[in-house]
Amino acid sequence: MRKIVTAGEILVEIMAAEIDQSFMTPGPLIGPFPSGAPAIFIDQAGRLGQPAAIISSVGADDFGRLNILRLQESGVDTSAIAIHEGAATGSAFVRYGRDGDRNFVFNIQNSACGLIRLDPAARALIATADHFHVTGSSLFSERVIDIVKSGIDAVKARGGTVSFDPNIRKEILDTPGMREALDFVLARADIFLPSGDELFLFAQALDEAGAAAEILARGVAAVVVKKGAAGAVCYEARGAVDAPAFPVEEVDPTGAGDCFSAGFVSFWLRGEGIERALRLANACGALAVTKKGPMAGTPTLVEVETFMESRA
Ligand code: ATP
Ligand code: MG
Repeated sequence: MRKIVTAGEILVEIMAAEIDQSFMTPGPLIGPFPSGAPAIFIDQAGRLGQPAAIISSVGADDFGRLNILRLQESGVDTSAIAIHEGAATGSAFVRYGRDGDRNFVFNIQNSACGLIRLDPAARALIATADHFHVTGSSLFSERVIDIVKSGIDAVKARGGTVSFDPNIRKEILDTPGMREALDFVLARADIFLPSGDELFLFAQALDEAGAAAEILARGVAAVVVKKGAAGAVCYEARGAVDAPAFPVEEVDPTGAGDCFSAGFVSFWLRGEGIERALRLANACGALAVTKKGPMAGTPTLVEVETFMESRA
């Protein structure tokens, strides 16, 4: 089985308990939950049985420990998660609006995440990777960008593959160097997994099929557009495959995109057909939204197969 390596932020997430709650006045909060987009992705890949590892950094605190324990429980190789005395694990506070919009207060660059670097453990891991996954939100520092570039170059030199989920949050799009890094990754990606309007940040066309065609023409093998409760569409040179979502009650949407991407990439790497990879990815995304907490719904392979059979 092919080993997936990713790099980027490990966070705890703390969420406002009520819809339309303000962060300008005291109110009930729920958490800490293990989080961070690349961490959610790699957790889902590990739970599906894919060899999986993450290059990251946490503080020597409970927030770091709870994340490492969770990832280990999911079968993820945590050997390249550096633990820094004197730094605090990163965090994200999130509140949800009535119309489903999300607002975050991130503490990433000034947390232990700001200390992520290409150290010997990271290099050792990259040397074993068959596939490198990039989450756009992780390109917040020159050091993470260096790891991502090294990882992609090493994997590609061995004939491996790259996937890219832009996962752009409005709160971080203006980070210096991020735009150039996003373009670097897209130019080398085999699978591109945008959601919502992210597709249009990388193309001129104003319609989805046209924008996907532009990106395929740049050498990407599969463009997979995630659409929340409307499921997903995969564009390849030979045509498009549309896959409806599984109807579920949405409790917490955060992390669905990462779980979907991990499901799709894991099954694509196993040589599954696009229809089955999309169905499995939709099932991972659907189960992810049914529980509060970004990793709380992340299914194992058995759970996702049982769920798909129950909905056949
Ligand atoms: P995030 O960045 O917060 O992880 P996203 O915006 O990248 O999420 P979405 O498009 O919201 O990703 O969701 C990813 C996938 O998860 C969808 O393509 C779908 O398969 C599944 N999904 C998300 N929301 C729902 C829902 N309400 N019902 C069923 N499936 C859902
Ligand atoms: Mg996303």
